[in-house]
Amino acid sequence: MDFESELQNCSNKSQKRNIMAPNASDVNGVLFEDDAATPDMALSNTPVQKADNYPKKLVWRNIIAFAYLHIAAVYGGYLFLFAAKWQTDIFAYILYVMSGLGITAGAHRLWAHKSYKAKWPLRLILVFFNTLAFQDSAIDWARDHRMHHKYSETDADPHNATRGFFFSHIGWLLVRKHPELKQKGKGLDLSDLYADPILRFQKKYYLILMPIACFILPTVIPLYYWGENWVTAFFVAALFRYAFILNVTWLVNSAAHKWGDKPYDKNIKPSENISVSIFALGEGFHNYHHTFPWDYKTAELGNNRLNFTTNFINFFAKIGWAYDMKTVSDEIVQSRVKRTGDGSHHLWGWGDKDHCKEEVAAAIRINPKDD
Ligand SMILES: [Zn+2]
Ligand SMILES: [Zn+2]
Repeated sequence: MDFESELQNCSNKSQKRNIMAPNASDVNGVLFEDDAATPDMALSNTPVQKADNYPKKLVWRNIIAFAYLHIAAVYGGYLFLFAAKWQTDIFAYILYVMSGLGITAGAHRLWAHKSYKAKWPLRLILVFFNTLAFQDSAIDWARDHRMHHKYSETDADPHNATRGFFFSHIGWLLVRKHPELKQKGKGLDLSDLYADPILRFQKKYYLILMPIACFILPTVIPLYYWGENWVTAFFVAALFRYAFILNVTWLVNSAAHKWGDKPYDKNIKPSENISVSIFALGEGFHNYHHTFPWDYKTAELGNNRLNFTTNFINFFAKIGWAYDMKTVSDEIVQSRVKRTGDGSHHLWGWGDKDHCKEEVAAAIRINPKDD
């Protein structure tokens, strides 16, 4: 489809939606391609960030559990550095990558955003990885995340970043949900998630599957296969690794909603945060992601070095288990950058008119041939 007809199509869609959805002005962020109301994939109105003074009701069970987890994780980190066998350390690292992918490639890009499709063997792998990560069932994670995009930085956003760094990082899990979140959450469509028997199975048996995947297997495997003692195995491969990946995930909600450039949309808080991307397997390009959330790369091309999740999906695309990956055309990205970016977007690529001559001359070109 050419760009013109794409634009035409988009404004037709938005007209249709405006007739069907009178409350569209409540919505603060796009979630799927269909939510966009302008040709360059934005909402028709400028997002309004807000938070009221709703009294926070503490959930002591979670406060005690997370306090224990973090103290235990510090001890686990000490054992990781000074006491554990090297096999246990490598095992913990592999578990961190696996549980990370269960969130990034699974709950986030596949299930929350439908940015690509996966055949059942890949969905099974991802659901196992996701259970290792213990961030609630993929259905529940995707529900919260859809709210985060749709009602971004309002009281209906579970980790509303306008309430500060601590709230958007962990605080949101230590208090009762805001009534606005509960109320607007009722209108959210999750039928696509409940249609998947693998996801239904995970949710139904979560309280059995999660302890096995997140705590028991990570403790028993080092004990059984390379004779690690159980205290080290438990504190390193289960608790330290679990707390680490949790905090990495939370940094996307806190740090990447606070620090970094906004080349795609300066009207929103989400920012391009390279440090977060490194630890979160490519999820820190957050200004791009909130601007074009259905892009399976969650970033523009060229960032794949820091985007392990994209490489993971690309690998499975090669063997046919991942398919129908959605991405955004250069024209749309360019027009959006020009209209709403903060001016920090540098180059489109080789031959860009802003590409300085010295840099072009100094570049290394392999097998060059100018047509
Ligand atoms: Zn976000
Ligand atoms: Zn997202």
